[in-house]
Parts: sequence; C-alpha cells; structure tokens
Amino acid sequence: MNFDISRKRMVETQLVARGITDRRLIEVMLNLPRHMFVQEAMASQAYNDTSLPIGEKQTISQPYMVALMTEMLSLSGKERVLEIGTGSGYQAAVLSKLAGRVYTIERIPSLASRSRKLFDTLGLTNISMKIDDGSVGWASEAPFDAIIVTAGAPEVPLALVQQLQPDGRLVVPVGDQVSQVLNLVKRSADDGFTVEASTPCRFVKLIGSEGWSQ
Ligand code: SAM
Repeated sequence: MNFDISRKRMVETQLVARGITDRRLIEVMLNLPRHMFVQEAMASQAYNDTSLPIGEKQTISQPYMVALMTEMLSLSGKERVLEIGTGSGYQAAVLSKLAGRVYTIERIPSLASRSRKLFDTLGLTNISMKIDDGSVGWASEAPFDAIIVTAGAPEVPLALVQQLQPDGRLVVPVGDQVSQVLNLVKRSADDGFTVEASTPCRFVKLIGSEGWSQ
C-alpha cells in the first residue's frame, strides 16, 4: 500500500474539492502520516472518507471534519490551542504543526498513553497533554487563542468560553447524542461572545461535568 499516494488523493478529493483552502493546513495534512494514528489492522483504511474506530468505543474523526474544524480556528502560527478529546492524537498533531503550543485533554488513559507515545515518535514537542475531564477546560493554562472540542456536547460548555482570550475562537459540535451541528463561538474584546451554527456532524459524546453524564 502506498500511503503517500492515498494521502495525496485524500487531500485532493476530500478536502480541496470540498472547499478547504488554507494552504498551511493542506500542506500539513499532505505530510502527516494519518495511518500511524489508527489501529494497525486498519492502516489501509486510514485515508478513506470516514471516521474509524480506535478502541474504547471511540473514533478518529473523518479527515474532512478535522480539516474543516481546524480551518474554522483561523490559526496563523503562534497560537496557544486547547483540544478536548485527544483520541488517536491525529487532530492534536495537525494543530501542533499550525500553532505555537497545543494543550490536549483525554479522559481515557489507554488512548492518552498511545497518543503520547506517537507524539514522541513523531518529535511533536509542542504538545502538552493530561488525562482529565476536558469539558471544564484547563484553567491553569488558560487563556487560549483557540479551543476545539472533538466530541459532541449538549450545549456550548461555558467554562471553555471563559478560557478564551478576547477575540479567541471555540469550535464545538452541539446537539443530541446522535447528531450535532458545529458551533463557532467568538469571544469579543468586551467579554461578550457570539455563536454561529454551521455544518451538521456526528461525534461520540463529550462525557463530563459540562457534557453528558455517561
Ligand atoms: N480528536 C480525536 C482524534 O484526532 O482522533 C478524535 C476524538 S474522538 C471523536 C472523541 C474523544 O473525546 C474520545 O477519545 C473520548 O474519550 C474523548 N472525550 C469525551 N469526553 C471527554 C472529556 N470530558 N474530556 C476529555 N476527553 C473526552
């Protein structure tokens, strides 16, 4: 299996053809070995247009969803970004190439430890990680320029909005336990915020005190 060819095809047919235009993001997804983030038996499916199981009833998100949510954060290179739901580590790895420092939180220890090893293997030294309930954010490292939640929440978690810098952006899927809509929250300089709902999506549950109970 030639992963380079599959990855190039993924970027052209799933990302660029659907309107992803951020050149830095496209370059990162052209080069990052997504097949290393899935279970070995599924490596041949890593560049398919779909999410995939990663164990513990969790998933690595569809490549297009990773690209779309990342593009919505409008990163230029120096930001401090918080991710909730490390999962396979793929989204955090994409962010690490586009921002200054990434903070990522995962509640399932086995997924966190696999991701941590991958970050080491790939030399991604600007990622800080912890095992915790990320629905309340990472107060000791706040504020953040951008926050991305890669699990579905019943409502926009207000603790996360409060950890945004003025002009900061939060992307979070909000809806019921079956389907959600991407919400883009922008914090304004005067401490208020706006919420814009856009693309329908389907994520596993955000479980925690500002998410679902189980
Ligand atoms: N971003 C991931 C990737 O690139 O593979 C995909 C994440 S997967 C769709 C959602 C992840 O969120 C799961 O690994 C799940 O355990 C995690 N999760 C759910 N609720 C959480 C919470 N309150 N805090 C931290 N992680 C949580």
